[in-house]
Amino acid sequence: MPTADPLNRLVVVQGDITHEMVDAIVNAANESLLGGGGVDGAIHRAAGPELLAECRQLGGCPTGQAKITRGYDLPAPWVIHTVGPVWQGGQHHEDELLSRCYRNSLTLAVEHGIRTLAFPAISAGVYGFPLERAAEIAIATVAATLDQTAANDTPTIAQVRFVCFSDRAYQVYQTALSEALDR
Ligand code: ADP
Repeated sequence: MPTADPLNRLVVVQGDITHEMVDAIVNAANESLLGGGGVDGAIHRAAGPELLAECRQLGGCPTGQAKITRGYDLPAPWVIHTVGPVWQGGQHHEDELLSRCYRNSLTLAVEHGIRTLAFPAISAGVYGFPLERAAEIAIATVAATLDQTAANDTPTIAQVRFVCFSDRAYQVYQTALSEALDR
């Protein structure tokens, strides 16, 4: 029996990810997991100091991998922290490392029974990954991973939201999703 197209479970929205009412939000963290600027700073501010205290126990996180904590004062009960690659021109496995961030985050989500989650545009801020390319990788990787995890016809993840902070990111993600749907 064919499974539903996983692209139908992807949604592009504009806003602040810290307001998302989902089971988990994903943080574009750095390898220290001790907080930073951009979306990382916003998540730590909204979650409160207990998030940093839990992150301190995790011993960092290598690029491309993911770790999970509670969400504390956030509406989302869980935060999945993943570390995107710094863009170095495209010849340093950046695409594969970014793809791994999405795959590993989804794997952790499934392991924790998470059904709805929200991603920011990992690496597309201070880390300098070109936005169009980052959006295509995000959508293609999430769709492919959902397809694999739904192989037994019981999809555990109901919705994945891509939360775009800027007007431009929102346009780019909408275009990337509609192009994927047209294929
Ligand atoms: P990275 O270091 O992985 O590039 P950044 O935090 O610098 O991470 O940026 C990643 C993306 O998150 C950028 O597109 C940025 O505009 C966006 N962003 C920043 N703050 C928020 C927020 N509160 N909610 C959602 N996205 C955000």
